[in-house]
Amino acid sequence: MRRFSKSFTQQEPISEAAIEAAVAVMRTGRLHRYNLVEGEKGETALLEQEFAARLGVPYVLACASGGYALQLALRACGLKRGDAVLCNAFTLSPVPGSIHATGGEAVLVDILEDTTVDPDDLAAAAQETGARFFMLSHMRGHIGDMDAIMAVCEAHGITLIEDCAHTMGASFDGRPSGTFGKVGCFSTQTYKHLNSGEGGLLSTEDPEVMRRAVIMSGSYMLYDRHLAVPEAESFGKTRLVTPNMSGRMDNLRAAILRPQLAELASRKERWNALYRRLETGLADMALVQPIPRHEKEDFVGSSIQFRLPSLTHDQIARFVAGCEARGIPLKWYGKPQPEDYTSRYDSWGYLEVTRPLPNADRVLATLCDLRLPLTFDERDCDDIVQLMGDAMDQATGKTDAM
Ligand SMILES: *Cc1c(COP(=O)(O)O)cnc(C)c1O
Repeated sequence: MRRFSKSFTQQEPISEAAIEAAVAVMRTGRLHRYNLVEGEKGETALLEQEFAARLGVPYVLACASGGYALQLALRACGLKRGDAVLCNAFTLSPVPGSIHATGGEAVLVDILEDTTVDPDDLAAAAQETGARFFMLSHMRGHIGDMDAIMAVCEAHGITLIEDCAHTMGASFDGRPSGTFGKVGCFSTQTYKHLNSGEGGLLSTEDPEVMRRAVIMSGSYMLYDRHLAVPEAESFGKTRLVTPNMSGRMDNLRAAILRPQLAELASRKERWNALYRRLETGLADMALVQPIPRHEKEDFVGSSIQFRLPSLTHDQIARFVAGCEARGIPLKWYGKPQPEDYTSRYDSWGYLEVTRPLPNADRVLATLCDLRLPLTFDERDCDDIVQLMGDAMDQATGKTDAM
């Protein structure tokens, strides 16, 4: 059987420019973000400044991970123990995990056919629980109808926190993802759009939220060394009543990220070329149902999703196994037992699921996902489509095993 031989988890190497920047930091020995010499701004502070400029917001904080940014966001927005926090039923485990870690109670909200959050169910859940927070995950890079979502948040007095782990560089109606909510949270973990191994970025236009976030991240009262936070004089009382929950970024990772940030727009173009190629190929495959995109959405196609609604559970299982045998590790969210990353709410056993989620159950049962690393080219996409077609024919009995 012909097999696809490239790895779906192999990212591009770190560029020479980024390696040189990292080596330069190591030569100084000043890896800690606040370890600066006279006149030095530091890689971490510069990264924050550059990311803020890119988003068009005044304040950005770099931190230890995307999940840590989510926790900081909730705390900085004033979450108290036991508060209900709405979140999409279809998301990645760090989202409910961050709510749990901060003492909140996750309340899951159902999704639509396109896997984004259902604004009507959001309103219903807000009504039922009185929740004041909504952690909106733009899961797998799909941005829902932000006009409708924002209208619900406004009507119910909900503080919106955006999880932009899959939408760094994306926008809706011309507005960057992460600038709709009170706080935007981003990840620079290896599988996201910038790669520093681990890392997170938090953005806001609210000065008090940023003051709290900076102090919580472990600034040791050195917030005047930041370049994208409110002025030092404004930290007044906040500096004394906010606990330190260390989770800083270091200069080494920031040095690796700055050259990558400059490439984000061209990476987006390359990702979208792969996405379009695969999307076109899959559109020709009967039984494969694409996920529609909102017309106002400008996304980064670093992964692709599709549904197999007319296949039986067994047929999908055979198809997934056939793809696996051809070197294509499809993620199938309908798999009974979670493997590798979990995105099914029933695999987060610590959560109490209090609301019915009929769409999430139905949509996830036939939903599949493929990563698209930039180490692939368009010919690889054609290859993948062809091999998936073979697996589909075999799974649905159109051809015998080959
Ligand atoms: C990766 C991811 C996160 C968290 O990022 P980490 O940096 O791994 O903590 C949050 N939400 C989603 C949807 C993610 O995929």
